[in-house]
Amino acid sequence: MLEILPLTALRDNYIWVLKDSGSNRVAIVDPGEAKPVLEYLQAKQLELSCILVTHHHWDHTDGIPEILQQSNVPVYGPGPNGQQLRDNQQITLPDQKVSLKVMHIPGHTLDHVAFYNDEVLFSGDTLFAAGCGRIFEGTHAQMYNSLKKLKSLPKNTKVYCGHEYTVNNLKFAHRVAPDNQAIIDRLVHTEILIKKKQPSLPSTLQAEMATNLFLTASTLEAFSNLRDAKDRF
Ligand SMILES: [Zn+2]
Repeated sequence: MLEILPLTALRDNYIWVLKDSGSNRVAIVDPGEAKPVLEYLQAKQLELSCILVTHHHWDHTDGIPEILQQSNVPVYGPGPNGQQLRDNQQITLPDQKVSLKVMHIPGHTLDHVAFYNDEVLFSGDTLFAAGCGRIFEGTHAQMYNSLKKLKSLPKNTKVYCGHEYTVNNLKFAHRVAPDNQAIIDRLVHTEILIKKKQPSLPSTLQAEMATNLFLTASTLEAFSNLRDAKDRF
C-alpha cells in the first residue's frame, strides 16, 4: 500500500513523501529544501529512490543538489539534473510497485507537469485545494485547459498540491460566491485543521468540484476574470 506523507518546507510548501509499505525506499515530490528530507530519511532510516519535480520554481527544486550529494537518484521533471518528461509517459518508482503517469499542464509555468494514477494526483502549483496557481509563464487559456484535463480524472482521486493555501483560497471563493454552503463548510473545517497545525490536504477532485470555482468556471472568460480577481485579492 502506498502511504503519502507531507514534509513541511519553507513558509508554506509541502514536500510529499511516497512510501510503499514493505519497502525502505521512498520517492519525494518537489523538494524545495534539502533539510526536512535529509532529516526525515535519517530519523526513519529510509533511503531515497527518486525525486519527482512538477515545475522549475526554486521553492520546488532548491533542495535537489544537496539531496543528490547524499543519494545519487534519478530526478524526473524540470529540476536540476532532471530528466525531461513526455506527456503520458509512465514512471515506475524504483523499488516500489507504484507507477505514475505524466500529464503536461502548462499555465503556472510552461514546463509544469502533474504525476497521477487512478488514486492520486500530484498537482504542484496548478491545481490547489479550492484554488489554482498564478499564471506566470503560460496563458489563461493554457491554464484553463490544464485544469480541464485534471478535472477529467476520477472524482475520488486524492489531490496533493504544492502549498498550504487552502484557507486563503476559500476566503476568496467565499467572497465571490457568498451563498455557496459547501465553500462555507470547507472554510470552517479547514480553519480548524490549520489551528491544530494539521495539513488541509489531500483534497479530492470531488471536493474540488464542489468548492473550487476555478475548476468549475464554465467559460475561459469566466475563468480569466476569476484568476485576475484572485491576483488582486
Ligand atoms: Zn510555482
